[in-house]
Amino acid sequence: MKKLIVGNWKMNGSLAANQTLVQAMLDGLAGQAPASHMALCVPSPYLAQMQLRLTGSAIAWGAQDVSAQEQGAFTGEVSAAMLRDFACRYAIVGHSERRQYHGETDSVVASKAQRALAAGITPIVCVGETLAEREAGQTEVVVKRQLAAVIHAVAHCTSEIVVAYEPVWAIGTGQTATPEQAQAVHAVLRGQIAAATQHPERVHILYGGSMNAANAASLLAQPDIDGGLIGGASLKAADFLQIAAAGA
Ligand code: PEP
Repeated sequence: MKKLIVGNWKMNGSLAANQTLVQAMLDGLAGQAPASHMALCVPSPYLAQMQLRLTGSAIAWGAQDVSAQEQGAFTGEVSAAMLRDFACRYAIVGHSERRQYHGETDSVVASKAQRALAAGITPIVCVGETLAEREAGQTEVVVKRQLAAVIHAVAHCTSEIVVAYEPVWAIGTGQTATPEQAQAVHAVLRGQIAAATQHPERVHILYGGSMNAANAASLLAQPDIDGGLIGGASLKAADFLQIAAAGA
């Protein structure tokens, strides 16, 4: 399976900075098809800019969240249909920063995944344990519970999701899971997906958590790591391109 490398800019950027960053990525690709599928998940106000700059290029784009509601009196929310208006291919759902700072539960995350799929957008479903959960030997239980909620909600559409394993202790900390640690969890998630759909081979399972140009190749070499969800390193064109190239 061709790897999928997705950038998560988080709450970073400006019109001017994005223009420079995206142009550097496109220049780096120089019209060549990258070794990996590539996408950028950007703050919602910049989706129009991505649509303008990236249409026709090898880089897809998406959002970092989507509302669990369809439409109406939900001030501040952005619906899946609105994301679709800007031709988003992806929406991250259940990022640990959303779970942690915005109290998103497994069932809210599952509703978000459903809304995305209903609008023709691929949800990138994030799962991952905290350091305390890992130390308590709960990693497998936690990630399986988080993914099970989504599988239960999306049912026969399970083959249309992307999964991202992001150990919370590795996000933005510079502390990466070792390739072996990540592979062990990916194998568990692969088994869970395989039990839920007749087309498990369609599901990318990404690793995220301080993936960078230096460690990407060894992580992407693992049999069940199908790509990466990249935070900090997606804000540097050369690093992001190098990670995408490491997926060859
Ligand atoms: C993320 O935000 O999903 C992430 C993995 O961040 P970082 O690469 O900065 O750890």
